[in-house]
Amino acid sequence: MARRQPEHPDGPKGAFLPFRHRHLLGIAQLNPVEIIDLIDRAEAMIPISRQQKTLPNLAGKTQINLFFENSTRTQASFEIAGKRLGATVMNMAVNTSSVAKGETLVDTAATLNAMQPDAIVVRHGSSGAVELLSQKVGCAVVNAGDGAHEHPTQALLDALTIRRHKGRLNGLTIAICGDIANSRVARSNLILLGAMQARTRVIAPKSLLPRGVEQMASEVFTDMREGLRGADVVMMLRLQNERASGKLIPSVREYYRFYGLDAEKLAHANADALVMHPGPMNRGVEIDPAVADGPQSVITEQVEMGVAVRMAVLDALLDKEGEDA
Ligand code: ASP
Repeated sequence: MARRQPEHPDGPKGAFLPFRHRHLLGIAQLNPVEIIDLIDRAEAMIPISRQQKTLPNLAGKTQINLFFENSTRTQASFEIAGKRLGATVMNMAVNTSSVAKGETLVDTAATLNAMQPDAIVVRHGSSGAVELLSQKVGCAVVNAGDGAHEHPTQALLDALTIRRHKGRLNGLTIAICGDIANSRVARSNLILLGAMQARTRVIAPKSLLPRGVEQMASEVFTDMREGLRGADVVMMLRLQNERASGKLIPSVREYYRFYGLDAEKLAHANADALVMHPGPMNRGVEIDPAVADGPQSVITEQVEMGVAVRMAVLDALLDKEGEDA
C-alpha cells in the first residue's frame, strides 16, 4: 500500500511505504527496501529543511529528547527536525533531572510516559538501554545512539550524503577508519552498507578492531594506505575516549602518524573519494584540519542531511494517520 500524498503544498512529493515499525532502534531491524524508503523520504525533506519551512505533519504532537550522554549536534538536529514538522519539542537535560538524583532508567521512562509524549528520542551510554526504555513506554522511541551498539540516523544520513554524490551505494568501496571497536557509527554503517551491497572496509590498529569484525565488513586492514587504495568514500571516526579508547593506543602522536587522515594518505584513495566524519572531530588526532576542510570533505553536508533524515524518521514513525499502524 502506497502512503497517501501529504496534502500540504510544501510537503514531500511521492509515495512512500507505510513504516511498519513502532520504534527505530537500529538499522539491523530494517530490510533493504525499508532503508531505501527512509533515504528517499529524507531526500524529499531536503527542500523543506533548506527553505526552513514548517510542515504540519506533527502538529499537536510532543517529542521529548532524552539525552543521557553529551551531544550538541544530534540533539539540536532532532530538535530542529521535530520543529520543522510542527511538533512541540522538549529537551530533557539529564544532569539537572532526577536521573542525577539516582532515578533508574525504567523510572525515568515511566515518568515521561505519564506525560503522554508521541515520541522519545534517546541517547544513552549503554548498549541496549534504548531498547529497554522502548519496552516501558507507549510511544515511538528513536535511538539517537546507545553505547557502542547503534546510531541508526547517523548511518541513514551518511547513506543519503553518499548517494547524493555518487548516485548509488551498491558496488561502492567504503573505508571506515579508526575506533571501530567502540563505534556505534561504524556498526550502523556496516549493517546499512552491507544491506545495500556496498564493499565495506574497516581500517584500524588491532587493538581497535572488535572481535568478529570479519563478519561485519567485507575486508579488514591494519595498514591505512592499503585499506584506502581504490576507496570511493573514506569515513573517519573519533577515538571514543569516554569508552577508554585512549588506553588502547600507544600515544595520540603515534596514532595520528599511522591512522590520521592527511593529504598523503588520502591520495591512496580514488581521486574523487569523499571524506566523511560523524563529528565531533578531533583535528590533529584522526584527521588533518586541511583534509577536514578540503575539497573532498562533505562533513558539513552530513550535518545538513542529518536534519532531513531525522525529519523523515519522525514523520515515518508518527504521521500514521489514515494507515493501519
Ligand atoms: N556523534 C557520533 C556518536 O554519537 C560520533 C562520535 O561521537 O564520535 O556516536
